[in-house]
Amino acid sequence: MINLEIPKKFQPLVSQAHQVATEVFRPISRKYDEAEHAYPNELDMLASLIDGMNEGGDSGAGATGVRRESGGKSEEGNRNGSNLATVLGIIELCWGDVGLLLSMPRQGLGNSAIASVASEEQLERYGGKWAAMAITEPEAGSDSAAIRTTAELDGDEYVLNGEKIFVTSGDRAELIVVWATLDPSKGRAAIKSFIVERDNPGLKLDRLEHKLGIRASDTANFTLQDCRVPKAALLGSPEIDVKQGFGGAMQTFDNTRPLVAAMAVGVTRASLERTGELLAEAGVEIDYDLPALSQPAAVARFLEMEADYEAARLLTLHAAWMADNSRPNSLQASMAKAKAGRTCVDVALGCVELCGAAGYGEDELLEKWARDSKILDIFEGTQQIQLLIVARQLLGKSSAELR
Ligand SMILES: Cc1cc2nc3c(=O)[nH]c(=O)nc-3n(C[C@H](O)[C@H](O)[C@H](O)COP(=O)(O)OP(=O)(O)OC[C@H]3O[C@@H](n4cnc5c(N)ncnc54)[C@H](O)[C@@H]3O)c2cc1C
Repeated sequence: MINLEIPKKFQPLVSQAHQVATEVFRPISRKYDEAEHAYPNELDMLASLIDGMNEGGDSGAGATGVRRESGGKSEEGNRNGSNLATVLGIIELCWGDVGLLLSMPRQGLGNSAIASVASEEQLERYGGKWAAMAITEPEAGSDSAAIRTTAELDGDEYVLNGEKIFVTSGDRAELIVVWATLDPSKGRAAIKSFIVERDNPGLKLDRLEHKLGIRASDTANFTLQDCRVPKAALLGSPEIDVKQGFGGAMQTFDNTRPLVAAMAVGVTRASLERTGELLAEAGVEIDYDLPALSQPAAVARFLEMEADYEAARLLTLHAAWMADNSRPNSLQASMAKAKAGRTCVDVALGCVELCGAAGYGEDELLEKWARDSKILDIFEGTQQIQLLIVARQLLGKSSAELR
């Protein structure tokens, strides 16, 4: 029997996250949009609270909640685990402010990557630290198989050389998960991720980006020059398994794409809720018992956007639920990311449009959400790339056959 309610056990987490979004994020949302590159100190206490919740075993209280436990239930099982909990928490927090969520200490996408693929020993060593994720390079964005940063084994250390751009939390995090190739001639199978301490002398911060949205979140560019890391800093297996190809590295995305989709769902809901209130203040009532087309045009548009929101939300929950139940979810993770990213941009701009001058002015957060939304359609793989992945999976084509 299908049951679309939020599992009872996650309701306290959802309401706590909503409270944080309302009482901590929303009041400082505009302040850190304007003060780009200033660190939101208000988040320190909150991050400690989340650490405490994680230590107390509360599943899904942050980015580290996406580890796939072995021994998940079989196809017939139904487990609502930490992936679903994390997604639900993120939706609430991003209803508050997505830039601030991205600035939360120890909750970076690098933390999710570590949680997804690190050995128990690595979890022990690197757990509790804030980790950013560095894949993108000047010549490698959507095509992450094209990365040029190299990792050469020298005794007990790897030596990394290359350039990384657009690293979210790169300036503030304590660790950077760097993607590099062990052997450029061996293609995608040779790409591995390495944990680099932020204070490693071989890692040089080049500059911070100025951006359209998520201005509370820092975005850094780095050069890696003879950057030495211990052998044990390689995440996962050091073997170059040509048969497995990119599988190992891509496994991270199956866990992190639903998280970014969840961010988009949160921003979408924020825009819709505020627009509904402003429409009501303007005397435009939504009647859910009447067909959309027999109501004012603004209501018809609003209902259309709500339907898109609901579709994005359900796809996101589905992708996370599959991860909790140890089912392969690359297809669903990409579907969720594509739909939620596109919906977030369409709805945020649609809400600005419906609210007219109120939507465009800085007295409301609607204009900010319209700016914040676009990145959710870009990072962790653009909408176009997600659609390509979906097409490949549905048609049974390889990345060489369909590009
Ligand atoms: C604010 C911000 C934060 C970021 N944070 C991180 C981070 O923490 N870590 C990290 O590694 N990266 C990060 N990125 C980088 C982000 O993941 C890349 O920008 C993204 O993957 C797209 O790469 P690109 O910018 O090089 O665009 P390109 O790959 O050059 O793509 C340009 C356009 O062409 C389209 N396109 C490309 N190939 C195809 C194709 N085969 N078919 C159809 N369309 C195609 C794309 O969808 C896009 O619309 C961040 C970027 C920004 C802006």
